[in-house]
Amino acid sequence: MLGLVRREGFAIVNEPETADAIIVNTCGFIRAAVREGIAAVIELAGYKTSGACKALIVTGCMVTRYKDDILAELPEVDAILGTRELPRIVDVIKRIFNGPASEPGADESSEDLYINRALSTHMGYAYLKIAEGCDNRCTYCAIPYIKGPHKSRQADSLLAEAANLAAQGVRELVLVAQDTTMYGKDIYGRPSLDILLRKLSDIPEIAWLRVMYAYPENITEALITEIAENNKICKYLDMPVQHASDSVLKRMGRKSAETELRGLIGRLRETIPGIALRTTIMTGFPGETQRDFKILRNFVEDMRFEHLGAFTFSREEGVPAYTMKGHLPEKLKNDRRDILLKKQAGISLNNNKQFVAQTLTVLTEGRVPDEENPQGCLYCGRSYRDCPENDGMVFFHSDEEIMSGDFVNVLISEAGEHDLYGMRISDESSQ
Ligand code: SF4
Repeated sequence: MLGLVRREGFAIVNEPETADAIIVNTCGFIRAAVREGIAAVIELAGYKTSGACKALIVTGCMVTRYKDDILAELPEVDAILGTRELPRIVDVIKRIFNGPASEPGADESSEDLYINRALSTHMGYAYLKIAEGCDNRCTYCAIPYIKGPHKSRQADSLLAEAANLAAQGVRELVLVAQDTTMYGKDIYGRPSLDILLRKLSDIPEIAWLRVMYAYPENITEALITEIAENNKICKYLDMPVQHASDSVLKRMGRKSAETELRGLIGRLRETIPGIALRTTIMTGFPGETQRDFKILRNFVEDMRFEHLGAFTFSREEGVPAYTMKGHLPEKLKNDRRDILLKKQAGISLNNNKQFVAQTLTVLTEGRVPDEENPQGCLYCGRSYRDCPENDGMVFFHSDEEIMSGDFVNVLISEAGEHDLYGMRISDESSQ
């Protein structure tokens, strides 16, 4: 949307009080996200009286899921666009300001929408959305109902978008979708993420490729080999497993049992030495017993993930788990989540300590305030082990100025649960 409005000649401003039109792009897959979206809409609606705002437009998943409620309950909203209607954003703005007879914006397909992107941040990385929708139908998840079935994007379109991002200074592409490992099955007849990664790695300016949201059953041998052998693919994989107890996995509609998950993780660690694994798990699924939780706890203990996100089950209307028996009290769900997070904190710290006195290549994101030494030059960035926004950071000092998107070598001197600390060293001294 940013790319489209910018191309049409609109100026993009960062302060809502100066904006003539405010667009709130929402998430809507769990209640907590919807609450956050509604709070943002109400807060930003205030700029219609205290600022320049004449058009408040709400877009995204919350609109797709709760269109009628938004129109009925939020009269401050001037227009809405669901996830599949985003290419119409320019038309909508023009109609609000110039009336229904206004000149329509360029006719954009959703592929153009992706290729003509404008970056909102310049930190050396960008997300690359390789598919939309999901065919998995996990019983707790509203996403397939919001986004529809899995639909891969054409490789040519993705390569054009990636080249455009590389020309804007992007050095790391983070591949995302609801299910990245399903990529290509619908249009090329087989899961083709390995082939896509190889093609993307031919773009000279792109140095790192990272895969998020890998559904375990679609991780093929070809993909494992590509990650192991292609130097541009970070030795990193985000693979949400959700649970480890077979009975919970079955009721969740997940396809793997615990033994298969353990086997896959063992194979990944063996074939890709040094791989950093991230996962997501859920506590408090309906009917989760103390025994189920113990199985999950042991699994977390044994797998020693580099990064782990733990969430509690959210009871969402319209999904099969909503009507299942055995819903647990919020306190119990929270307690179980906290036990796992505490356990993981110790595992992460131990994993991180292994990097003290080692040198890591770091993609610089920017300079950060140094409280201990306000005159000093403290920077932050990420190594191959960390995805943007969710994982840890590497904080480091440097005598020379560094720009966002620069790769540097950092000698690690200290490790925390999430972050690493160190000093930039010259390329020669890291040899
Ligand atoms: S794979 Fe992910 S997006 Fe698809 S249904 Fe399951 S949880 Fe939802």
